[in-house]
Amino acid sequence: MSGAEDSRPDDPRKVASESTTPISLNAAISTISGVGSQLSSRFTSLGLRTIGDLLKHLPIRYETEVAEAAVTEAKEATETTQASVTRTVRGEIQKVRHVPSRRPRIEALLADESGTIRLIWFNAPWLTRKIHPGVRGIAQGRAKVRGGYLEMVNPRWEEIQDESVPTRGGRLRPIYSATEDLQSARIEKVISSVLDCALDSVVDLIRPELISRRELVSLREAYRMVHAPQSALEAERGRNRLAYDELLCLQLAMAMRRWQVRNAMRAPSLEMSPGIEEKIRSRIPFELTDSQQQVCREISEDLASTIPMNRLLQGDVGSGKTAVAVHAMLTAVAHGHQAVLLAPTEILAQQHLRTVEEMLVGSRVRVAGMTGSLRTADRAVVINGLASGEFDIAVGTHALLGEDIQFKSLAVAIIDEQHRFGVEQRAALRAKGVCAELVPHTLVMTATPIPRTLALSFFGDLDVSSLRGRLPGRTAPTTRVMPLGRSDEVYRWLKTRIDRGEQVFVVVPAIEESQLGLKDVASHATALAAGALHGCRIGQMHGQMKSAECARVMDDFRGGLIDVLVCTIIIEVGVDVPNATVMVIEHAERFGLAQLHQLRGRVGRGGKPGFCVLIGDPPNEIAQGRFDAIANSSDGFEIAELDLKLRGPGEFFGSRQSGLPPLRIADLSRDFAILANAHEDAQSWIGIAGDLNDKRDLQLRRRVLGMYGSALGLSDVG
Ligand code: ADP
Ligand code: MG
Repeated sequence: MSGAEDSRPDDPRKVASESTTPISLNAAISTISGVGSQLSSRFTSLGLRTIGDLLKHLPIRYETEVAEAAVTEAKEATETTQASVTRTVRGEIQKVRHVPSRRPRIEALLADESGTIRLIWFNAPWLTRKIHPGVRGIAQGRAKVRGGYLEMVNPRWEEIQDESVPTRGGRLRPIYSATEDLQSARIEKVISSVLDCALDSVVDLIRPELISRRELVSLREAYRMVHAPQSALEAERGRNRLAYDELLCLQLAMAMRRWQVRNAMRAPSLEMSPGIEEKIRSRIPFELTDSQQQVCREISEDLASTIPMNRLLQGDVGSGKTAVAVHAMLTAVAHGHQAVLLAPTEILAQQHLRTVEEMLVGSRVRVAGMTGSLRTADRAVVINGLASGEFDIAVGTHALLGEDIQFKSLAVAIIDEQHRFGVEQRAALRAKGVCAELVPHTLVMTATPIPRTLALSFFGDLDVSSLRGRLPGRTAPTTRVMPLGRSDEVYRWLKTRIDRGEQVFVVVPAIEESQLGLKDVASHATALAAGALHGCRIGQMHGQMKSAECARVMDDFRGGLIDVLVCTIIIEVGVDVPNATVMVIEHAERFGLAQLHQLRGRVGRGGKPGFCVLIGDPPNEIAQGRFDAIANSSDGFEIAELDLKLRGPGEFFGSRQSGLPPLRIADLSRDFAILANAHEDAQSWIGIAGDLNDKRDLQLRRRVLGMYGSALGLSDVG
């Protein structure tokens, strides 16, 4: 199965492939017999240095290599099967033709007792002198029937001196990700030459009980199965074991973190009393829904304990998360501590600040706003006031995470729209606690429901609360999809809504005019003012405007001085303008599903029904399916799951955003069952072995800490 270019005398000083002496997985690839410095440097450029790295370089797919067959048999099979498979024939070269051209080729006829096959090699000077009539050998490659002839292009060629070379059996051939000058076949050959010896050095870090309970193959077996599978099923089983290991490590890291936070850190105990509850409720201008009350109770229970709260609150757009946040913050203030509410954008921070301030008008609670656009003097006032305890509550953007921000006594930290903040931000907030040993309770809130897979993998250390159902009097906005050609109709209808005193959003994808031909804020606003929406008061907003300017536009819109807000997705999360009833989204095919759901959540928040019109021509069936899905479902959880499936976790929720190293083997969009097992196993393992401190787990612990320790801020006090 080796190409002639690969045959090289073995260097006796190097690792002999027949020997089964275990070799260190840390040994350099250059110590493998047949691997010179040039070849090993090519491995280095693939990021592979040691024999262990080779083992972990998993095939990206497999190719079926059919067992050796007679030429006529191979021809028949080729004619009847469509699947791309590699065929193997052996015989004698009969005729050879060298065709010189810009792509020189060698054409040869190979014959066995049954028939002949044409072999063609392009640009293969090393074969020029090897392929000549009378030579016998084995050819392997994809076969095609052309002009009645069976033909193989660029087959692998192995010359044979005598017929004792055994018949090649069928097998799966691993295909590795490769480079121009280090091809998959070469990688395969090197790996297979050391596989047996290397496997002897593989140590299973997982306890045997667990392996047998989950019916996993041993780690050694798994590596054998992925690199040299006997069947597709084996390759799959091997991969699944490795994916399990990878996910188990992630889950153990999450479980360790949870364990460490709960055991090594303390938070102030904020006991809820009927008196405090009543005082807080009197500040919230509406009755909390059952679901809001339930979540507030869950949070109050957490806050009463000295175990730091580490909770995720997910609730669809407009489910009323802010009131829950205020409830938690006021609990801290009632105990003489401070609270912070962190928002992902200036607009949202301003809005939260206003909400909180309005609720607290006339109370003694002092609220500070902190954003990046604050003037230096005002900033100093906030910084001093937070440090001295003059301010009870801070509302702002990530400017609040700055090193210069110190709290006198921070007891509750809330992060809104968690998917914009990573693990590190949570750690940064925790570090702002009362003192090193006394950390704040943290609550993260998200309106993009996190699909269960991602919740388990990236937020595995959090407890989860969910706000279900809609607020009283709210219905999901009715969503329609309209083709580009009917835009005029849409805007005529929009005008009638505006004439009735309603306010509308028009969302476009671009900030400025561009070559892509996408509608942009300024041109579209101008076009609408001159055309369909003549006479309406049109405002504009996008991410490149100064935040003070954005804030002014938002104020005007909220105050009813603007009828139409033409904007980009800057308003995607959180914006709350109760009188806004209609949203038109231009080029809707350019937005993600979860994003569209977020966007339309901005309308119909004030009791009047909301409408959302998606203008766009879906370019293909998938896009059409997405449109149908968003028009027919108002369930954010359902949409998020679908979005994950369509786009994959990478885009939906990059692991980059989570602050964790990316997964190499497991694929969250298909490995949910494995993830769920790994999660359960890690939970019970940490439950029993605490911080993974059992002697038997030390190596595993080292591996988990090595991979995730710094990203998750795990301490190594084993
Ligand atoms: P989100 O969960 O999207 O952050 P908000 O907290 O912004 O939702 O709430 C959406 C709107 O609903 C706000 O205007 C808020 O004042 C209002 N609201 C929240 N809870 C209730 C309730 N229990 N009854 C009536 N209105 C409510
Ligand atoms: Mg919100």
